[in-house]
Parts: sequence; C-alpha cells; structure tokens
Amino acid sequence: MNLDNLSVVLTTILYMVSAVLFIRGIKLLGKADTARKGNMLSSVGMLIAVVTVMLEKDVTSTLKSSPLQNAYVWAIAAIGTGGVIGAVWAKKVEMTGMPQLVALFNGFGGLSSLLVALTQYMTDPNVNTFSAVTLGLTIAIGAVAFTGSVVAWGKLSGKLFKKNVNIPGKNILNALLAFVGLVGTALYAVSIAGGDTMLGRVGIALTTASYLLLGFTMVIAIGGGDMPVIISLLNAFSGLAAAFAGLALSNSVLVVSGCLVGTSGLILTLIMCKAMNRTLYSLLFGSTSAAKSKKGAGPEKEPRSMSVEDAYLILEAASSVVFIPGYGMAVAQAQHAVKELCDKLEENGAEVSFAIHPVAGRMPGHMNVLLAEANVPYEQLKTADEMNPQMANTDVAIVIGANDVVNPSAIEDETSPLYGMPIINAFEARTVFVLKRGKGAGFSGVENPLFTNDNTVMLYGDAKQTVSTLVSEFSEE
Ligand code: NDP
Repeated sequence: MNLDNLSVVLTTILYMVSAVLFIRGIKLLGKADTARKGNMLSSVGMLIAVVTVMLEKDVTSTLKSSPLQNAYVWAIAAIGTGGVIGAVWAKKVEMTGMPQLVALFNGFGGLSSLLVALTQYMTDPNVNTFSAVTLGLTIAIGAVAFTGSVVAWGKLSGKLFKKNVNIPGKNILNALLAFVGLVGTALYAVSIAGGDTMLGRVGIALTTASYLLLGFTMVIAIGGGDMPVIISLLNAFSGLAAAFAGLALSNSVLVVSGCLVGTSGLILTLIMCKAMNRTLYSLLFGSTSAAKSKKGAGPEKEPRSMSVEDAYLILEAASSVVFIPGYGMAVAQAQHAVKELCDKLEENGAEVSFAIHPVAGRMPGHMNVLLAEANVPYEQLKTADEMNPQMANTDVAIVIGANDVVNPSAIEDETSPLYGMPIINAFEARTVFVLKRGKGAGFSGVENPLFTNDNTVMLYGDAKQTVSTLVSEFSEE
C-alpha cells in the first residue's frame, strides 16, 4: 500500500470514528443523567473530524506560502477566535438566556454553511451540475436558517420583533421568494454548461437574497405558542444546510453530521407538532397569530389575590396537590424551593405530582432539566395526558410561573392564537394558586382568563420567595 492509499484509509477510519461518536453522543443526550457524557463524546467526535479535515488537505505544501496566504493560519485563527467567544459566552449566559443562545447558534450554523458555499462558488464556480445544485441548496437552506434564527433570537430574548407581524399575502410572498431562489440556482447550474459567468453570478445572488428574506418573512409572523416548533425546524435546517455543504465539498463527515442534526431536528419538530396539536403545514402556511389575536379585549374582572399565610392554610388541608411549572420557575430559579415544598406536603400526607407541558419554559425539556437538578423523582413528572383526567379531583393546582400552558383560551376561544394547543387543565382543580410577580403576559402575549376564575387565587411575588415562605410556614407548624 503506498502512502496516498494509506492516508485515504486512515482518513476514512477517523471519519467513521467521529461519526460513531456523534451517534453515540446523541443517544446519550436522550437522558438527563447521561447528557453531559453525550455532549463530551460528540465534542471529541467533532475535534477528530476537524483535525482529520485539516490533515486530509496537503499541509506541507501550503506551509511554504506566506502566513496570510496559508489557509491553515486562517482556519486555526477562526477556530481559536470562535472557540474562545463561544466558550466565554456559553459560560457567562444565565440559564434563562440559554434558549436564545441556542437559537443564535443554529443561525450561525446556517450562516457558516452559507459562507462555505459562497466561498466554494467564488474559488471554483465551474463545478458539475450536481455540485451546482447542492451549492444552491446549501445557500438556500443556510440563508433561511440564518435569518430565521436571528428573528427567533430576537423574539426569545424580547429584544426584537416582540410583536407578531402580520404580512399581507404572506403565503404568496413566501412562495414567490422560494421560487425566485430556485430559479437562481437553476440559472447558476445552466450558466456552467454555457460558460456564462455573469448569469451564474446573478443566479447565486438571487438565491442568496431571496432565501435570506424568506427566513425573515417566514419566522416574523410566527407567534402564539408556536415558536418552539419553528425553532426546532430551524435547527433541522441548519443541519440540512451542513449536509448539502458536505455533498458540494465531497466531505463525508460533514454529510453525516449534517444529516444527524437535520433528521433529529425534523423528528423533534414532528414530535413538537403532535404535542402542540399543529401540523407543519398549518404552522408555516396558516394565517398569522397576529391576524387572529383578540389582544386588548382582555377580561374586565380583576384577579383575586391572597396572602401566602392564608394560602398555607388551604395547602395544609389539601390531600392532593399538582405543581404546574412554567418559564417563571426558571426565571426565579425556584426549583429547589419547589422540591422542599413538595417534601413538606408529602410529609403532611398529601399526594403530590408535577404536570409538565411539552413547551413549558423556553426550550424542550426545560422543566424536566430544572426539576431533575432539584432531585424531583422522574416518576412524579406527568404529562398533560396523564394529569388532565385527574385534575377535577385535585385539591390544589399550584401554577408556578406558567401562563400560556394553562391558558383556557386554547380550548375555549377559537379566535385565540393559542387555540388548538393542548394545555394543562389547571382550571378544573378545586383551587388554583397562580404564583407570578404581577400582570406580566406569557410568551404569546395572550390574556389568560384562568386568572379571573372564581376558583383561582393569585399569590403575587417572585416564585422562589413565595414558595420559600410557604415552606417556612410548614416548618413552623
Ligand atoms: P409563559 O411565558 O407563558 O409565562 C411565564 C410567566 O412567568 C409570566 O406570565 C410571568 O408573569 C411569570 N414570571 C416570570 N418571572 C417570574 C418570577 N420570577 N416569579 C414568578 N413568576 C414569574 O410561560 P409558560 O411556561 O407557561 O409557556 C411557555 C411559552 O414559551 C409558550 O408560549 C411556548 O410556546 C413558548 N416557547 C417555548 C419554548 C420551548 O421550547 N419550551 C421555546 C420558545 C417559546 P409576571 O411577569 O407577572 O411574573
């Protein structure tokens, strides 16, 4: 075997090792207690892939060129800078800022595929038709993932696009943008055969511009409780863009890793759609939430509130209690106090469960992760399907910083942007305690009639503070 063959075999083996590490890593990410290990394995797989890609290229020949012309200097500088920024950012980010950071990372994934494809086009535009089409698709999907994720980041962080924008003729506009982008890719593919570089440039520019715009128009109109599904879809897009980039560059490990992200993102999207009682079609092409919103037509009744000391007396007499956590529990970091209250209630003879909505919080599994961190047994965490039939027989439902996921408009008001989304039927419990700081709306911005129901009592204040006071009331018993 000569040296060239040996290097091909070695490269293939290293790529296979990293692919196996990615797959094993994803498997381990499926459970909270093995997730760290899964993350570590996948990172090692990525390191092996990156080093192999760099070694696969002929390092020795480029070493002779000046540092500024040497691709490796640029690559290492980019990896170093990006790595340091990413590590510092991820280390500093608060747990509640994690969802928007993840959305932004998705966007950067799409942007890198887009830039890789554009660079490939600029360095060697005269590829074969297959590569031209894959380059076009990389640009298209990468561009949608990028601008769509930036909009998602803005919405999640509350910094931009807070209000859902109703674009008139949205579906026609989006279809037109998608069509123009595809025409651009076709022009590029045709231009190669004819040797017309100008036509190719126009084609690539059309694809890039129209799909950048499409990501924006597609996500800006999404509202209500539908953002989680679209974020998961954008994640799938960033993976698909990488997979197409891998095809265009003939890099197998990029194809494998891109397909893994793409398919797992698509599976998660379909699971989320099912959990939210939505179809992907209705999400992308349905009329916008802003168009349907009855915002401003809120209930006239004022919510009833109570002191924590009085609430304790009701809780003390309760024999069944259901906690319904939401985003506010994450903001307040109340999970440990909640576990303490759960223990006190159980010592007092109450049966305690946790009803977890699939989109409670700001990322899939958000509540499960927080409650696992506080050592709440997994068996105590119930889904909406498991809990709702028992809700009418529950003495007290404690809604901790949840809003949209307990909003009855989702089942009662056909005009509500939340309509059709399954909720935790907190309103059916004999007494409902709602722990929140004030009159802040949920993520969807939709009024919540639960708060003015006769059986609902508001316990205003930071959730951790309120729960801790309840715990001390039990301790003073
Ligand atoms: P919501 O966003 O509907 O409501 C959170 C509530 O928590 C607010 O009404 C707020 O009221 C209250 N709150 C905030 N801070 C505190 C605090 N320190 N103490 C007490 N209460 C607090 O949360 P839900 O979990 O019910 O719903 C999740 C929403 O997020 C859904 O619309 C979902 O679609 C969306 N989403 C979910 C994602 C996911 O993957 N899970 C991703 C993207 C979006 P106040 O200000 O008055 O305290």
